[in-house]
Amino acid sequence: MKYFEPNEILEPSYGNSLYWQRRLMSPTILTVGDQYREEYGKTFINTPWNGIYKDSGIRNIKSFMRMNPDKDIKDFDLWRSAHPRGRALDLKPQEHSVEKVFKDILENSKFWFKLGLRRLEAIELTTSDPNISSDGWNHLDDVETGLDDLIVITYKNAYTIEQYKEIRDKIWLMETI
Ligand SMILES: [Zn+2]
Repeated sequence: MKYFEPNEILEPSYGNSLYWQRRLMSPTILTVGDQYREEYGKTFINTPWNGIYKDSGIRNIKSFMRMNPDKDIKDFDLWRSAHPRGRALDLKPQEHSVEKVFKDILENSKFWFKLGLRRLEAIELTTSDPNISSDGWNHLDDVETGLDDLIVITYKNAYTIEQYKEIRDKIWLMETI
């Protein structure tokens, strides 16, 4: 990638390896990540310099155990998330709020769709307060949906942009997630 080192994308056991980045990551989501940096400035994914974020790009079983210390390894579901498939990035904007970037991407959805972006996670799942700058992240992935525009996803549901906007006018989605 132009703006990110491999160890900002890879689970730490893969090191800072371009070889593993190429083997494990979808080139499309890497292009999307670079464009995000181009549009929104300073951005973090994994943060190997302080070890706070280790699982914001590719995830493996070590990630699952780290993120779910109380769960059984048999519950690791490779296909439930786009991260273990190397098709997702959790991008942490440092110069804008998560909500501002989220809205901006939805406003310019055709541009991002053309680049290969397919799904955004509803920010209800990724930030505790949309008004706090640099709180949380934007989950972007390139998992095909069969539709011709971006969609917004929660754990249980998927919404077109219009549906999401309609719901957001009424409720903060945490209630339905
Ligand atoms: Zn994510």
